[in-house]
Amino acid sequence: MMLHIDCAGASVSRLPALALQSGMRPEILFALFKPVTAISGVGPRFGKLIEALAGPQMVDLVWHLPTGLIDRRFSPKIAEAPEGRIATLVVEVEAHHPPRNPRLPYKVICADATGEMTIVFFHAKKDWLEKALPIGELRAVSGTIERYQDKIQITHPDRIVPLGELDQLATIEPVYPLTAGLSPRTLVKAIKAATEACRSLPEWIDTAYIKKQNWPSWLDAIRAAHAPQTLDDLVPTTPARARLAYDELLANQLALALVRSTARRQRGRVLKGDGRLRKSVLAALPFRLTESQHRAVGEIERDMASEFRLQRLLQGDVGSGKTLVAFLALLIAVEAGAQGALMAPTELLAQQHFATLSPYAETAGIRLEVLTGRVKGAARAKVLADLEAGEIDILVGTHALFQDDVAFRDLALAVIDEQHRFGVHQRVALSAKADRDKGGLDVLVMTATPIPRTLLLTSYGDMDVSRLAEKPAGRQPIDTRAMPLERLEEVVDGIGRAIASGRRVYWLCPLVAESEVVDLAAAEARHAFLVERFGAQIGLVHGRLKSAQRDAAMQDFIEGKTRILVATTVIEVGVDVPEATIMVIEHAERFGLAQLHQLRGRVGRGREKSSCLLLYAGPLGETAKARIETLRTTDDGFRIAEEDLRLRGPGELLGTRQSGLPEFKLADLSVHQELLAAARDQAKLAIERDPGLKGTQGEAYRTLLYLFRRDEGVRLLRSG
Ligand code: ADP
Ligand code: MG
Repeated sequence: MMLHIDCAGASVSRLPALALQSGMRPEILFALFKPVTAISGVGPRFGKLIEALAGPQMVDLVWHLPTGLIDRRFSPKIAEAPEGRIATLVVEVEAHHPPRNPRLPYKVICADATGEMTIVFFHAKKDWLEKALPIGELRAVSGTIERYQDKIQITHPDRIVPLGELDQLATIEPVYPLTAGLSPRTLVKAIKAATEACRSLPEWIDTAYIKKQNWPSWLDAIRAAHAPQTLDDLVPTTPARARLAYDELLANQLALALVRSTARRQRGRVLKGDGRLRKSVLAALPFRLTESQHRAVGEIERDMASEFRLQRLLQGDVGSGKTLVAFLALLIAVEAGAQGALMAPTELLAQQHFATLSPYAETAGIRLEVLTGRVKGAARAKVLADLEAGEIDILVGTHALFQDDVAFRDLALAVIDEQHRFGVHQRVALSAKADRDKGGLDVLVMTATPIPRTLLLTSYGDMDVSRLAEKPAGRQPIDTRAMPLERLEEVVDGIGRAIASGRRVYWLCPLVAESEVVDLAAAEARHAFLVERFGAQIGLVHGRLKSAQRDAAMQDFIEGKTRILVATTVIEVGVDVPEATIMVIEHAERFGLAQLHQLRGRVGRGREKSSCLLLYAGPLGETAKARIETLRTTDDGFRIAEEDLRLRGPGELLGTRQSGLPEFKLADLSVHQELLAAARDQAKLAIERDPGLKGTQGEAYRTLLYLFRRDEGVRLLRSG
């Protein structure tokens, strides 16, 4: 599933036919999109294994690239055959020694002019062996050379062929990642069949660019990638592999550009406010908007007032003031006579938004309500009725907003907080709540995940981006310190003094295994330890608690009933407890940089000076040292994200799943970053020149999109 569809989902769902929809999958690709079981020799059983390993269709086998090679051309004499290497020996079969006991191996003695060797089989079938290795005949036998009791032997040769087939055998064979139950030979054969089904395709890469890179054509690249001749051919920067990576990135960028341009051209709704509500709220604030908040509101206002749809990502570090920006945007919708929705990923966050925004709503004289799974019965019925009657201006909520019976009188803007926790279908469901005839729904997505620019491109390339780069004035930098765990006693003493003076502390427990169960044990142990020291004023939250219990524990901490909150990493993404000023992170060396930064962002939200203690178990490795040092010296989430990418490689970044970044089969962004930028430029230009991808070059692009299944997400959303 393409992620960009995810974020743009709400508005994409109502696109009429997207340009590439007008055509069906090009005929030239038919063969590649047959199921893998269409390959002879691949039945349902192997089909399942191949599907799990590579994917369901033949094209997936084409993308399954080798990770090693075997040189079967190496053909020494028996006396010179080196132990441990794979070799092909040409030998005469001398004798068969079937075992006396079925548990013992079957041995076949062979020889050449330089000596004798043994071929060993366990659980062998005599008939088969006598046919494969007839006494007195020459055979080419290929496998790993072993030495046993001073004699050369091969156990279960990979191949045994008559001399006439030696030429076919003595080649360099690619080695592919395997899965249990699938033999290398079956897989190699299937992949061979798949690559042979590939046809020469119209070139989609820009002529000047492919020339400059000196890349092969697509078909040649596929063939070369599956026929490595040396180990150097296996690295991702070879011309063949770089080209294929570029193809994948170009397909990704092209799909994003298409969605974006189609959405662009889609008439949206012209929403203009008179500024009256915003003015009253801004006047009542005890602070001024930061420069970037001001700019972001301006960008949103401009988009809303345009005849196109708002599709904007509001990116800002924790505590940078996104919520207020979102609220001002919602006020624009209300000023224009419509309604707005603000959606949070959890009950707690929805309640928190509601609590924070209620006083502002009161100031503005508008009606704000909350709808979550916990609002039930008569209260719920009332909210629904008032919403439909247009008496509620802004509705804050969770997934509960997607339910069928929730109807707005006139929903114009949806703000989605921390979008990666929402699924496609939910966003589609939400967009259905807006009135299509009036111009549909404007969507603002907020995220605190500091995604590096390069990666942002791959997943949000279809959205405009506003960044809140600076922190609100008056925020004090968080004093970040690293300390070895041996000094735990000192730390605990210090914490004791801090809570005695009224401060509140988050205590993040060691990430032991990124397994909820194991991590929990560590958190419980720490909780017990702290309770023993400080008594009942210690709370505990972790992922195994029911959400009501978890919310209750959070609530106690928010209200100050507990002074230390021991937590696993489940601690809510956007929880705002300004009174919490100390963050202790145990085993900081086990956390990723971006994650540490996110966790640290839980403190430093009020006027009080905050601090963050990174407790580590030494000695630290180079990377861990670099991480802690970066964190100590900067507080800029974007810089930290870039650094994280550098230190870890994108696959590991935040854990790919959690970060919601797309996974590529051929491209590796830690090596192919430059290709991504080039792909973006080409895609942008392509859509500018030929928005419908109708020309000859457009046909090549469409082929590319189908090849990488970039048509799927769009179709899914259309039917959603
Ligand atoms: P985010 O959602 O980006 O994590 P919030 O919107 O929760 O950040 O803002 C964090 C805190 O900062 C809130 O208490 C909010 O009232 C406050 N805040 C927002 N904007 C400003 C500003 N311009 N100046 C001072 N404080 C601000
Ligand atoms: Mg927030």
